[in-house]
Parts: sequence; structure tokens; C-alpha cells
Amino acid sequence: MLINPPLWDFSAFDLWAKPLGLLYLAATLRANGYRVHWLDVLDPHFPQAGDLFPISPRKRYGIGQYFRQRLERPRALKEIPRYYYRFGVPPRLFRDALLEIPEPQAVLITSLMTYWYPGVQEAVSLVKEVFPRTPLVLGGLYAGLLPDHAKARNGVDYLITGEGEGAILKLLKGLNGLTPVKIPDPEDLDTYPFPAFDLYPRLPYVCLLTARGCPSNCPYCASRLLQPLFRERSPENIIEEIRHWHQGYGVKDFAFYDDALLIHFEQRIGPVLERIIREGWDLRFHAPNALQVREIDPPRARLLYRAGFKTLRLGVETTNWERQQTWGGKVDPGSLQRAVRALIESGFSGEQIGVYLLAGLPGQTLREIAGSIMEIKKMGLRPRLAEYSPIPGTPLWPEACAVSRFPLAEEPLYHNNSLFPCLNPFSWDQVQQLKDLARA
Ligand code: SF4
Repeated sequence: MLINPPLWDFSAFDLWAKPLGLLYLAATLRANGYRVHWLDVLDPHFPQAGDLFPISPRKRYGIGQYFRQRLERPRALKEIPRYYYRFGVPPRLFRDALLEIPEPQAVLITSLMTYWYPGVQEAVSLVKEVFPRTPLVLGGLYAGLLPDHAKARNGVDYLITGEGEGAILKLLKGLNGLTPVKIPDPEDLDTYPFPAFDLYPRLPYVCLLTARGCPSNCPYCASRLLQPLFRERSPENIIEEIRHWHQGYGVKDFAFYDDALLIHFEQRIGPVLERIIREGWDLRFHAPNALQVREIDPPRARLLYRAGFKTLRLGVETTNWERQQTWGGKVDPGSLQRAVRALIESGFSGEQIGVYLLAGLPGQTLREIAGSIMEIKKMGLRPRLAEYSPIPGTPLWPEACAVSRFPLAEEPLYHNNSLFPCLNPFSWDQVQQLKDLARA
């Protein structure tokens, strides 16, 4: 059984959010003869829900609010003057769904942000109550970034701290003695089965990953930590997956989860987009993860537009160019202007082009962030504040710990981006003004 647990936070929004890693594991297990049970507590179309609770209507392209219930803030967050919620189907439905499933050989729970561990704890304790003898495996980002905390605080039997496909097959072999027959080759991503999206009762969109990792190494980002090598799928394999979901399941919306979608454009995504245009498939693509500004030129922008991209996000982070240099210099004013001109001339509207701006990194001031917001607005684009969450093990982590007003190393709840944990000086009013400025 594979579980995507509820999440506990001040806010959350379903922006094409699916547990892609867990879906890859489900597919790998099925390819090896396992029968899998799928339980995504965050699924707005949770099968057992029926009309029992009000699912928020989906917005365009399948995105929308999660079902949520107010919670008491955990002790560490008692002083924070904001409401705290549990996102996901109510616990009673979660329990009912577990009770419908025959005792599994193993339960796999995934995890994402380090500060969402209370949702993992909730899932673990419920599973233990219903299946006290079943081995429990925890994987995902939190398990990989904070293995000691994850093991000590959740009482799981096994942890998977890196890529899961090979690890889960090995682990299950140790438990049941079954030799896997189809082990994906980590050096050839085309050997991986397509993620098991068909386990969802309704499929408004599918998430695609055309490569794993990122060739850059920005100091605030965990990409290199989690995927030390940049590996890519072949265009043929990606086209086959899009065909599979579109023709087999009628899916029209696809969200790319790539960290570096446009890198090696002519060898990977370029041929995919050309083929989609040739086939005449009527699809909509979304890039909720940032696109690399330097990789956008007029021919590429035209291809993105003609293939059906509807949502674009550019990874700019700051228009303070001195600061940009200290973070690796992935954008400069010239490349930003060239990319924006190419996108607009291709047909994209300024509304479609969201620009991520990091807010709250060590050393950043409110004035500096406001300056970046204004700069992006002047270009006719939509600034999107990406509130900084300090991530253990990243190059910026020691500095984050040194400047934060919270003991980050002691309590992952303080990594929460809503707290702006590394912004100094800090005030809730000023942070709100910043958000209003970005939205206005
Ligand atoms: S380019 Fe993006 S994904 Fe790659 S290291 Fe930088 S922030 Fe992370």
C-alpha cells in the first residue's frame, strides 16, 4: 500500500501537486508483479468521499484548493498569529479507506517538506493502529533530508533516503524473498515505467518528468543534494508517455516537474514539442517549476507557444544583480529582457508569464525584495513570491541557521516558508505589505 499523507501547514494550494515519486514506485512495483493499493489523502476526488465533504471546485486546468480543517497550532508555533490547518480528506475517511484494504505486505508513505512531518506522523500512527504487524517504509524529501529526525520521530521500520525504485524492490525482496524481474536502470531513465497515474479515479492532469536533477547548484536549492546526477529521458520515451495519457486516458493538461526543462533543448524537449505540433494533439502544458531564463530564445519561445504552453514560470529570484551573482548568476538583465521579448513576440501574454522572486533569504532586506517586485511589474509580468524555506544540507543552510530568529536545526517546523524564518528585521505587517505589493 502506498500513501500520500495529509499535510499540516498555514496554507497550501494544489498547483498540479501530485506525489510523482510515489507514483513511480507504484508503477515499478506493478511491473514486478505486485498488486498495489493507492491512497492519496490529498486527492480532491478521493474515492471514498462521495458527497460526504465539500471538495472545493477545481479552477482552470485542474488546479484548486485542498479540503482543509482548522487545527490547533503545534507548541513550537503557538506564538505565530496565523491559522493552521490540516489539508486532506478528514481523518475518518482516511481510516475508512485503510479498513477497506486487506492487510498489505508493506506500507510505503511518502513525505515532502521537512516542516510537514506532523502529517507523516498522523499517517504513521493511523496505519500502525489499523495494521500493527505490517512493515512501514518512509521515503520522500523529508526522509532524505532529515533521516535521523524521520526515523526517531515517526517510528517507521525502514527509511528510503534517495531514489526509491531500486531501493524498494531490494527492501521487499528482503522481506518476502521475491526476486524482482524488472529493475529500472538508474543510468537509463527510459527503462523506468510511466508513473501510475491511472490509480487515480479521475485524472484531470498528469505530471511529467523529462529529466532528473539539475546541472546548476544554486546555494538555496536541494536539487543537487537529492539528485546528484543530471539524467535525461529520450524524446521518444517522453512522447510515448504523453501519447499514453492523452490517447489512452483523454488527458489534455500536462505539468512539467523538471528542474531544468529547457537544458539541452535540441536533444530533449525541442523534438518532443515539434512532434506534438506535427501530430496536431490539442494539449495544454504548464511549467510550475521555474524555466531557465538564459535558455529562452525566439525559436524556442515560438515552439513553446505553438505546442500549447499555457502557464510559464521564470526562475529569476532577484533583480538585485549583485545578489544574483552571489547566488550563482543564473540570470542577468540582458538575458531576462531577451527571454521576455521572445516570449511576448511569440504570443504569450504578460499575465501568463509568472516570475519567481525569492523572498526572505539570509541578508535580503524587505526593500530589496520590494525593488525586485516593482522591476518585474515594470516589465508587464506577474511577480510570484517564493518565500524561502531553509533546507538542511544546502550550501546556504549554515548561514540560514546563523541569522534565523528560530532554532532551525532543532525543529523542522521552523523551516516553514510562511514564517519567513531568515528575514531580518521581520514584522508580519511588512511581510503582508510585500505580498500585497506582489498581488496588486
Ligand atoms: S536552477 Fe533551479 S533547480 Fe537548478 S539548482 Fe538552481 S534553483 Fe535548483
